Amino acid sequence: MDLNKDVKYVKGVGPSRVQLLNRVGIFSLNDLITYFPRDYEDRSKPKEIYECVDGEEALIEAVVISRMTQIRLKRNTMYRLIVRDETAKCQITWFNQSYLKNIFKMGQKYKFYGKISNKAGKFEMTSPVFDSEDKENNTGKIIPIYPLTYNLSQNVIRRIIENGLKEIDGNLTETMPQYLLKDYNLYSLEEAIKKIHFPEKFEDFNLARKRLVFEELLTMQLALLELKNNYTTDIKGIEFNKEAKMSDIINTLPFNLTKAQLRVLEEIDQDMESDKPMNRLLQGDVGSGKTVVAMIAAYKAVKSGYQAAIMAPTAILASQHLESFQELLKGQGIRCELLISSITKKKKEELKERLANGEIDILIGTHAILEENVVFKNLGLVVTDEQHRFGVKQRTTIVEKGEHPDVIVMTATPIPRTLALILYGDLDISIIDELPPNRKQIETYAVRKSLSDRVNNFIKEQIKAGRQAYVVCPLVEENEEMDLKSVEALYKTYKEETFKDYNVAYLHGKMKAKKKDEIMNDFKDGKIDILISTTVIEVGVNVPNSSIMVVENAERFGLAQLHQLRGRVGRGEYQSYCILKYEGNSDTIRERMKVMVDTNDGFVISEKDLELRGSGDFFGTEQHGLPAFKIANLFTDMPILKAVQSLSIKILSEDPKLEKKENKPLKNLIKDKFKERIEI
Ligand code: ADP
Ligand code: MG
Repeated sequence: MDLNKDVKYVKGVGPSRVQLLNRVGIFSLNDLITYFPRDYEDRSKPKEIYECVDGEEALIEAVVISRMTQIRLKRNTMYRLIVRDETAKCQITWFNQSYLKNIFKMGQKYKFYGKISNKAGKFEMTSPVFDSEDKENNTGKIIPIYPLTYNLSQNVIRRIIENGLKEIDGNLTETMPQYLLKDYNLYSLEEAIKKIHFPEKFEDFNLARKRLVFEELLTMQLALLELKNNYTTDIKGIEFNKEAKMSDIINTLPFNLTKAQLRVLEEIDQDMESDKPMNRLLQGDVGSGKTVVAMIAAYKAVKSGYQAAIMAPTAILASQHLESFQELLKGQGIRCELLISSITKKKKEELKERLANGEIDILIGTHAILEENVVFKNLGLVVTDEQHRFGVKQRTTIVEKGEHPDVIVMTATPIPRTLALILYGDLDISIIDELPPNRKQIETYAVRKSLSDRVNNFIKEQIKAGRQAYVVCPLVEENEEMDLKSVEALYKTYKEETFKDYNVAYLHGKMKAKKKDEIMNDFKDGKIDILISTTVIEVGVNVPNSSIMVVENAERFGLAQLHQLRGRVGRGEYQSYCILKYEGNSDTIRERMKVMVDTNDGFVISEKDLELRGSGDFFGTEQHGLPAFKIANLFTDMPILKAVQSLSIKILSEDPKLEKKENKPLKNLIKDKFKERIEI
């Protein structure tokens, strides 16, 4: 069974439909059958008309008691029918569907499924789907509702998926070991795939989902544990010098560290002095002072005679780190350098040479550090900042530039501890759960787009007072060109109309690194009043004079991301503001906005984020170096997650390399899904 075969060969898929399917990410037969429904409609259980609640979607079985009447309106034609069951009458209307005219027979019973309204005992259903009494084409079953379909109707995509499922009928290779299916009472893959699309009862759906979630989480868990085993098995790491005291540098700082920073440093200090290689995740909200902590650890490494590498996800951030390191390490005789791809070739060569000779103590940089010919003399400490930008594999690459150096992974995406323990199963965890004193709370407002004028005036006021503003646009299209256009378009209106008396600039991920740095530096130097950008400014950028963050279409961002963005302001002495402009009216959107307005606590926000939209996006590939989950939800599937965690430990303790015959399928699963990230 070739699951990779092009979806265009599936029955019912012509050239134009191929394009639409491609747009939602369906290219192969496998993509098609794993395009899971986002919801279901139960069209299997008829209701009596009288018990229908206003606004609900319901299935009714009723006899036609009128002729079809045709009513011409200005632009449309309305078709109207009266039906009744034993409890009540109901009026049914459709628009412009002239083929319905001669279909219904007086006195016959039909099934109708659609949205019903009940206005003071008057029932009305609009545009229902229907079947005659003995048919089950559109009713009588649980119907899957698919996510994004563009111009494909639900009916069409449903039929295409049905055809896809016919092709795999009896042909789908099982991906899980038989013994696990038995022990955990799980559906076979084929049964799960079929039933997730077309469950006969909701119980089927639950079981199908359980099986798929189980597989997804087990694969991830096994992969992470494998990774941990690769790291730890009694490898000796570096014992850093007890005489290289962190307190020496701490005493020179212009501020007092918070209790949380001191506690975390204590943990790091112990790890560094022990001979076990440190693998530590340092979690802390934006602005909690992680960089200083990293700097102090680097100080200890250098004073013990080793080199340290600090990796940041962007050149801007790396430069910023360099600045604060140089500032705080002034007079210590520690040599810090910056390695980013935009420096000249000559300079790069020179840096590499000095690095290899041990003439550089701390190297700060971007991905450029990962390059093969960047060689350290004796790398002792690796710090990766905002690690979700780096894959697990990249972490391994840099670590291999030393002999079992200590590793600190910093992230400003706070996640609940229980989850961190599982997701970062390969790391110990330190949390900075306290902000430095005297931080001003950022005032957050969620406003509708219609209030743009007021928002703009507010921005002007702030600029007149000497401040600067960020305006962030979401990535609207998959296509970067299109995103660029949306940023550029906003830039144009701002520059030429709304803010024509001010300095406006824009920033986009597609720009050349050099150009980006230039603009960022101009913004830092106060030459730009308003900076429009996509989320490239999300991480770590530090411009204390900026006091306003406006987020356009805030409803399109995850909460964790909004929180990150908000962290760009409130970094100086000024009262700062975050204004979330949103569209849409759903309860979820309003609830999400409310969370942002109500709290500044990243941990609370991340927990809410998980709860409100599941983990699919939150733990996207890009964010955590883990593959996005297709079906698992880390919030609601916590019980399964816990079960697979202990199961994985058991499996790997008995069969560490997954070499036993019965575990072969597991090995294949991991290879399939993690091949980019983890080498097994
Ligand atoms: P993070 O990386 O966690 O977002 P930073 O390390 O960039 O935070 O710290 C934000 C700012 O706060 C920096 O300017 C830093 O010098 C300052 N800072 C860090 N720790 C303290 C502290 N204990 N007291 C006062 N200011 C601090
Ligand atoms: Mg930081």
